[in-house]
Amino acid sequence: MMHIKEEKMTATLLDGKIISQDVETHVKDRVEALKAKGCTPGLLVILAGEDPASQTYVSNKEKACERLGIASRTLRLPADTTQKVLESAVIAANQDPAVHGILVQLPLPKGLDENGALAHILPEKDVDGFHNINTGKIMRGEDGVVACTPKGILYMLKSAGISISGKEAVVVGRSNIVGKPIALLLLQENATVTVCHSRTVNLQAHTQRADILVAAIGKAKFITADMVKYGAVVVDVGVNRVDGRICGDVDYEAVCQKASYITPVPGGVGKMTIAMLMDNTVTAAEKAWKEP
Ligand code: NDP
Repeated sequence: MMHIKEEKMTATLLDGKIISQDVETHVKDRVEALKAKGCTPGLLVILAGEDPASQTYVSNKEKACERLGIASRTLRLPADTTQKVLESAVIAANQDPAVHGILVQLPLPKGLDENGALAHILPEKDVDGFHNINTGKIMRGEDGVVACTPKGILYMLKSAGISISGKEAVVVGRSNIVGKPIALLLLQENATVTVCHSRTVNLQAHTQRADILVAAIGKAKFITADMVKYGAVVVDVGVNRVDGRICGDVDYEAVCQKASYITPVPGGVGKMTIAMLMDNTVTAAEKAWKEP
């Protein structure tokens, strides 16, 4: 447990822009090494429909690929696309040796079955880490593709030298893409983990115990200063649009006065998510590469 006096403090920023740049520099070197051998890592993004947030995320992924020399292609399908067309696109990409990573942008338009589509991605090309095999491997602590957001959070904590072992970690949110996998990764790092959700009774009693608090809720400024322990490490995963501006799930200004470390929104976990997608894509290409 951390012992920090209850007085005003200013949290150290866990700056996703800086930390993700370190990751990207390393990834870029690996891309160049692969290219020198004749292999260009390739990412295929399948985007169905025209959800504006998804369009922004996909465009950020395309830009990151361009920065790092990864060949990226986006297959745009109409919102009324059928499950069969979607799954056929995944199967075709599985068979394409130039595609090392496949990503189906979520959420899918109404009527399309997310799990059905993800199940068709070859686990070794599942760079989002959402396939049952990869989520199962995290659960068992085995080596698999780790989902980008939780992987990025863990990287941020480690790069700042924050010790996790023995700490009280509280995760608010239990989604398959953030809450559950980050809880499992923190457990793997020997934290004592509590997972809270919308049915949790007296949420504040849990969050106030947290040495490491992860907010993955999707509600603007939901985590207020009175819910946070002095000296806590606060990781804000939320991306909320309020009056045209993006803010997290944490009341940033107030919580900064209590936390020892905090991630900003924007410029925090989101940057790490993209960097880890690049890392997973290059790792997939390295594993697929065979000397001629
Ligand atoms: P989901 O909507 O899938 O999950 C939200 C979770 O929050 C649920 O488990 C829900 O509980 C819980 N919750 C909702 N209301 C409360 C409440 N009042 N008290 C306690 N828990 C509550 O969201 P995601 O996990 O997909 O995403 C969470 C946020 O993170 C979103 O803002 C999303 O945009 C953002 N995000 C950001 C990423 C990044 O790279 N920065 C990547 C992915 C997501 P219950 O299960 O009971 O419904």
